[in-house]
Amino acid sequence: MTVRCVRCNNVCKPGAVLSAFDLEFVCLECDDMERAHPDYDRAATAAFAALQRRDRSFRGIGRPSELRPLVEAVVDHRRPAQERNF
Ligand SMILES: [Zn+2]
Repeated sequence: MTVRCVRCNNVCKPGAVLSAFDLEFVCLECDDMERAHPDYDRAATAAFAALQRRDRSFRGIGRPSELRPLVEAVVDHRRPAQERNF
């Protein structure tokens, strides 16, 4: 089964992870971007708490606008790092 990253549409390598923000599959590159986000700890804590209480309806705290979906994320990768919004 091929899993594609919801952010950049790259084929996720083995080891792709769930986003802590919206619990979608993201590739390792997008995961790195996520981990650099100031709200990552809050998102990860909330996701872990939901897991602990077996809350299957929990969909994350929501993706910050800086972590863009699909097409915009591809554009984002091409921009120099200093222009990124975090
Ligand atoms: Zn990605």
